[in-house]
Amino acid sequence: MEKKVRVTSTVQQASDCVQQASGGGRLSGRRWVIKIGSALLTNDGQALNFEGIRSWVRQIVILKKHGIEPVIISSGAIAAGMARLGWQERPTVMHELQVAAAVGQMGLSQAWQTAFAEYGIETAQVLLTHADLSSRQRYLNARSALTTMLDLRVIPVINENDCVVTDEIKFGDNDTLGALVANLLEADTLILLTDQDGLFTTDPRKNPYAVLVDERKASDPALDEMAGGSKGIFGSGGMLTKLRAARLAARSGACTVIVGGRINQVLERLHSGDALGTLLLPDEGRTVARKRWLAGHLLMRGQLQIDAGAVRALQETGSSLLPVGVRAVEGEFQRGEMVACVDEEGREIARGLVNYSSSDITKVRGLSSSRVHEILGMSVEPELVHRDNLVLV
Ligand code: GLU
Repeated sequence: MEKKVRVTSTVQQASDCVQQASGGGRLSGRRWVIKIGSALLTNDGQALNFEGIRSWVRQIVILKKHGIEPVIISSGAIAAGMARLGWQERPTVMHELQVAAAVGQMGLSQAWQTAFAEYGIETAQVLLTHADLSSRQRYLNARSALTTMLDLRVIPVINENDCVVTDEIKFGDNDTLGALVANLLEADTLILLTDQDGLFTTDPRKNPYAVLVDERKASDPALDEMAGGSKGIFGSGGMLTKLRAARLAARSGACTVIVGGRINQVLERLHSGDALGTLLLPDEGRTVARKRWLAGHLLMRGQLQIDAGAVRALQETGSSLLPVGVRAVEGEFQRGEMVACVDEEGREIARGLVNYSSSDITKVRGLSSSRVHEILGMSVEPELVHRDNLVLV
């Protein structure tokens, strides 16, 4: 019944989400956060959809061969747990939901692990809560662990840690979690695989004349009405949460595709440039957006005075800040907090998130990175501020 007419707005394709000449596709960039909803993962609530998981895994392995760094956000724990416990109706009592999530998460992780193991690829279960992403320290810890997984070619499979959260502190839906992970990892693309082909002008399950929206800016206010009112029954998200997730992801410059997870070879086809689903673009190019996001994200807690060599390294080669370039430390701050980097005349050069506290930096300033471990008895990272967490001002 769905009419596959496409509506394309007059979006200026300025965003660097949109591939320019090469490949002809409309997505570019390496880091893709791929969120798969509960209805897909559990065959509309019946039980875990092993066949679907094998199919997405097969596609993700191909994307990986093309240089994509995939991060999976997997819903389905509650729905899978309900099926295992023989519950027909989603519980309304929080503790029962938590039990369903805990039971279901076991099988969910195992299903992903088994499917990727066929290709010799390791996966890692990561369960996050809201508190993990709003505390600066845990935020950086999660970021470092996830980026290390990607460096080691391990695929993170992320879900909300439903067992320890209550309504007030929940992300609530994995669309939001996907967007926050896209922010955290500064992903290029957020893909929301769902049981509909994309975002329609009205709910296609109620209106056969609903039209698929092809491409818009995520900020387009006309989208709110289109997304309103279509809520899935197995997960907790609907189109409105997907739209909000796209807007969140756009803050760090990621583009979002809302697309049908049951479409044949959907991920491969998106990668090769097929215009499937609904593409929601950030207002500004990715570099500008992610820097603005970082710069506006936090209060400054202190400053590092850096020498002329470090100023040049930051400004001219876009390097990370190393201990050797730091002359003095001002203020008290913890790992993960925002600091200003100033030159010897006190002019601000950059700001960024520090990997070490002010007291640790005081001990290692002026030294080579190789001595950090010896002095502090541990080293989290060789950089004081990694270039990905640094914005020139
Ligand atoms: N974390 C929930 C689960 O695994 C899903 C949340 C959502 O539906 O988006 O079941």
